[in-house]
Amino acid sequence: MVNVIGNYGNADGNGRSLIMNGHIDVVPEGPLSGWTSHPYKPEVRDNKLFGRGANDMKGGLTAKVFALKAIKEAGYKPNAPVYLQSVVEEECTGNGALACVAAGYKADAALIGEPFDEALVTAQVGVIWFQIKLSGKPVHAERATEGVNAVEAMLPVIAGYREMEKQWNNEKMNYPDFAQHQHPINLNVGEFHGGDWTSSVPAWAVLNLRIAIYPGDSLSERSRQIEKTLQNLIQENGLVKKAKPVLVYHGFYGEGYTLPENTDAENELASAHEGIFNSPLKRIAVTAATDSRFFGIYQNTPALVYGPSGERIHAFDEYVDLDSLKNITKVYARFIQNWCGITEL
Ligand SMILES: [Zn+2]
Repeated sequence: MVNVIGNYGNADGNGRSLIMNGHIDVVPEGPLSGWTSHPYKPEVRDNKLFGRGANDMKGGLTAKVFALKAIKEAGYKPNAPVYLQSVVEEECTGNGALACVAAGYKADAALIGEPFDEALVTAQVGVIWFQIKLSGKPVHAERATEGVNAVEAMLPVIAGYREMEKQWNNEKMNYPDFAQHQHPINLNVGEFHGGDWTSSVPAWAVLNLRIAIYPGDSLSERSRQIEKTLQNLIQENGLVKKAKPVLVYHGFYGEGYTLPENTDAENELASAHEGIFNSPLKRIAVTAATDSRFFGIYQNTPALVYGPSGERIHAFDEYVDLDSLKNITKVYARFIQNWCGITEL
């Protein structure tokens, strides 16, 4: 997979430029038995399009393509460059969007079509991925007490990080966007691998974890707390100590992002939304990360995260609602019209 970037609009026009960004990578589909139809053979049922990535986020990305196409077919062109960025690696690092920033793409606003139910994301968490590797001492199961079981040594490690998660959630009052959220910081025990044989004490185990951090948090300070938690476990638990834990950061290492209040970009999007939906634009804080941090933090560009309705992202029977997708396409087109301005071809 590669990044693809297109550009439509007058480079020497007097409008405001725009980056429209969406990711094409998806997360694994899991066992096929959990799906009603094949995850990679898209199917429409009840005006919903089912398939892995339909909602997260081929839907939002497609809406951007069709919004630009509609403007072109109506005989118009934006008054400033509109960069359409189809990027990779949003789900594991953000390196696709980061590569666009590194290549020098910059605009007056960024719009990311992540599927948050036709609401604007005004605050979002950051994410850290980390991996714990344990080394056991393999022996025959008949003398298991003489070995070091790398799989069992992982149990107190999980418990230790659950405790850290609790403490981080207790800090939510310091973060106004998340103070009312029931559980803003989610630790996900995402992957576990270990052992080679049912009658051998396992010589190795690997655990992959994901945890959120609040917007404004320092990545290095939160990493220090992750490392301290492991050091404490080594001191307190003999089995963990014997399993010689190693900690590796193996992917996501991204800050959270808060959209500055009352930007022109947000106001234009709100009016485009109201014009299509006849209802005010909802604002939400979400406990997931998006690529917005690269535009918002690294380029000081307002990064609007706004996309269609659907359900079950990262789950079985993921779908995007097609009526919502059509309306979101109209909002995008109207936003381009008002933000960039348009002129006849
Ligand atoms: Zn996504």
